[in-house]
Amino acid sequence: MQRQCAWCLRLMDSIGEPLSSIPVPKTYKASHGMCKTCGNLWLEKALQDTQSQIATRPLVLDAHLTSQY
Ligand SMILES: [Zn+2]
Repeated sequence: MQRQCAWCLRLMDSIGEPLSSIPVPKTYKASHGMCKTCGNLWLEKALQDTQSQIATRPLVLDAHLTSQY
């Protein structure tokens, strides 16, 4: 099973390490998640945002992902 970061579209391995620095077109066969790089970036940004934005953002991302199936 391939894994792909839903944020930067890079393929990653099972522990979230990006396998390449080049984004690839979204693969429906791959399971989508967040690579470590995007996870860290998101965490940094989330810490700078207000409390309400942190609460709503994951819901928006979930809706976006599920609508593609
Ligand atoms: Zn990523």
